[in-house]
Amino acid sequence: MEKLTQQIRETAKKLLAEKKVDLVVGFAQGSLPLRSTPYFARTPEQAENLIWSSTCENNLANYLRKRGEKVAVIAKGCDVRAIVGLIKEGQIVKENLYIIGVPCAGMIDRKQINAAVEGKEILAASDNGSEILLKGKDFEKTVAKQDVMFGSCKTCQYNNPVIFDELLGEKVAAREANYADIEAFEALSDEERRAFIAKEMSKCIRCYACRQACPMCYCSECFVDCNTPAWIGKSAKSIDDNALFQAVRVFHLAGRCVDCGACERACPMGIKLSLLTRKMVKDVKELFGAEAGVNLEDPPALNTFKFEDKEDFLL
Ligand code: SF4
Ligand code: SF4
Ligand code: SF4
Repeated sequence: MEKLTQQIRETAKKLLAEKKVDLVVGFAQGSLPLRSTPYFARTPEQAENLIWSSTCENNLANYLRKRGEKVAVIAKGCDVRAIVGLIKEGQIVKENLYIIGVPCAGMIDRKQINAAVEGKEILAASDNGSEILLKGKDFEKTVAKQDVMFGSCKTCQYNNPVIFDELLGEKVAAREANYADIEAFEALSDEERRAFIAKEMSKCIRCYACRQACPMCYCSECFVDCNTPAWIGKSAKSIDDNALFQAVRVFHLAGRCVDCGACERACPMGIKLSLLTRKMVKDVKELFGAEAGVNLEDPPALNTFKFEDKEDFLL
């Protein structure tokens, strides 16, 4: 991690000093242990604040749309998939973007870490790549990184960036496709699935953090915010309205979702949003042989058709 941090800083400083870019978007250390925050470096001096760690979880593609300047971005696999999708959708001009790709071994989930230390305050933490050493006032504990990784990272097939202008660090082992969670969901009866979704949606407080965190969710006016007509109730009291919000959000991402898990990570209520998004990702893959953001060539799944495409769902 230290070596990658140094490489990132050197690369960013060079790009800014040579005025090849006006801005480098990456991560800086947060104010607490195991926290990092998106960071914008505009000078070589500011580039000294850039870091790389197992907590660089935000999808930085969120900061790249419609920028009028030349930007470099420190991008892991899922950021790059979103960037590819946004280039195809005309939201990012590839010529104005310099992608500093970083192979990603997975990001860690602070909720699982907090559970591992039974909610005690963590005052310091260090990461040797496979284990995290946590220290508090009266404890010291080592946890295996694999045990506290986000679910989306455990099933990520594109942890190595699919496109880049420069790649830092060594490529990491790619994972096999794994939809065991979705297959278990599909195996439930209609009633069981309905009950599960109602239970999850009853927790929703309609904060829209899931929408804000998603790099592919960028309509200038979201249907939920529209008042004339008001497509949907604004209160979180109605489970049906909450479910309708998620159903429309997920359908708007059909063939576009890059399976980064940012929406689920952002949800303060711990709602299992990945069951909806990954079900849709799996369906698009099986029905149309398409995956979002894995190359610049394939047209977006819903913008094209093949004669052999399934159409038995049409009424
Ligand atoms: S989803 Fe993949 S690329 Fe993204 S943080 Fe997890 S392992 Fe890394
Ligand atoms: S819907 Fe969720 S998993 Fe899909 S691209 Fe958006 S944030 Fe990532
Ligand atoms: S982030 Fe969670 S609580 Fe907030 S609107 Fe989305 S699903 Fe509901």
